[in-house]
Amino acid sequence: MEKQRKKLLSKLPAINDLLDSKQGQSLIDVYGHQMVVDASRHAIDELRNTILNTTSSMLSEFELLSLDKLNEKISAYLESKQQNGLQPVVNATGIVVHTNLGRSLLSTSAKKSISEIVSSYSNLEIDKLTGERGSRYQHVAKLLRELTGAEAALVVNNNAAAVFLILSSLAVGKEAIISRGEMVEIGGSFRIPDVMKQSGVILREVGCTNKVHLSDYEAAINENTGLFLKVHTSNYKVVGFTEEVEFAELVGLGEQYGLPVVDDLGSGILVDLSDWGLSYEPTVQDRISAGVDVVSFSGDKMLGGPQAGIIVGKKKYIEEMKKHPLNRALRVDKLTLIALEATLKEYRHPEKVFDEIPTLKMITASKSQLQCRAQKLYQILKKVISTKLSLQINSSFSQTGGGAFPLDKLPTAVIELTSVQVSIVDIAKQLRLNHPPIFTRIANQAIIFDLRTIKDSDFMILADALQNINLSGGENGE
Ligand SMILES: *Cc1c(COP(=O)(O)O)cnc(C)c1O
Repeated sequence: MEKQRKKLLSKLPAINDLLDSKQGQSLIDVYGHQMVVDASRHAIDELRNTILNTTSSMLSEFELLSLDKLNEKISAYLESKQQNGLQPVVNATGIVVHTNLGRSLLSTSAKKSISEIVSSYSNLEIDKLTGERGSRYQHVAKLLRELTGAEAALVVNNNAAAVFLILSSLAVGKEAIISRGEMVEIGGSFRIPDVMKQSGVILREVGCTNKVHLSDYEAAINENTGLFLKVHTSNYKVVGFTEEVEFAELVGLGEQYGLPVVDDLGSGILVDLSDWGLSYEPTVQDRISAGVDVVSFSGDKMLGGPQAGIIVGKKKYIEEMKKHPLNRALRVDKLTLIALEATLKEYRHPEKVFDEIPTLKMITASKSQLQCRAQKLYQILKKVISTKLSLQINSSFSQTGGGAFPLDKLPTAVIELTSVQVSIVDIAKQLRLNHPPIFTRIANQAIIFDLRTIKDSDFMILADALQNINLSGGENGE
């Protein structure tokens, strides 16, 4: 080995030199001895590898890092290790209920309620009046009855769990009659036929993909029929020559034969969004007033609350579910319940709910509002951006996401970032690796920042990230 390389290696500091230094000691105060030892070892190993792998011609220019510089590196390394794996990100995709980005943002009131409850004991399962054991669901159940008109309510971990519990409690070993057009798959892992099989229910398909008649349901009834299952086709629509059975008719048939009608409503909204230019999606109240026996829906889709599966319906069926052992396994935590209670309370004020629930607020934001905000963001970004990049305000469409309104496109304002010199894919990657990470969409060789899901407080984050982007990397090789 060259003499110079040997000399450099011999000058590498020992771990104890780093630990005994003043900075080393203060790092130990913050992170503890073992963490700092590991980080120091990591830093020295890295330096050793660099020396070993530097070409001979570069060796003469190689400067060994000072102890101070090395400690700085160690400190940065420790800080990055300390960061939470799960962290806030900027959603610039324009998809409001984005499952991969955590679905709904909670309302201010839900956030406040959570922060109040987390470090206190609570009356989660105790009756204040008698001092005896109560139900953890009583507070939200009361609100759900009030808002939906249902006789009873129950909350479980998510809507997939809700469907599972409903089928297991009401029809195990029996047949569930379902229309062929409603054999839904939601995001790969939730397929109605698989869920039915797992819950011990026998699938009984009726009708055709595009058409089903009441007589199809009636003809399928036998002594082993357990229930009628309706599944909201939340992420697609069958259009054209189609026919569905009205809920009221199915309910009538159910009453005639003593069979419950169960509806997996999927997204489950409590307000009609057709006043906002969206197509009509059935509300939970509509289903209850049509006499549907059991309705289930998600807490974190259009409702705009925490992850939860909400079940509302006739008392005798909900009681069956409460008694089922699965219910205990699927039960939700107090954090979910407090956030859900706060979210549901917002629906008592129909005139304010579109402002208070972030999901509803983003979905109903008007194009002119979004254009105005796009102007503001454009002005901020224009000041910091490199001349290698160009920015432009444009019109586009966002999506609600969350398996609702599959055909609706929401007119929106976006900022498009393009470059003739630098790879757009590389920039998008750098944005994802930013602190905090920024998720965008790419279309027509441009990075799209959709104002619908970008918060005002994200503007400076975007500016910082774009200002610091490294443009020397990949050439435009898409
Ligand atoms: C989203 C959805 C589900 C699953 O709900 P999760 O809350 O994600 O478990 C089930 N059924 C339908 C129709 C859905 O749209």
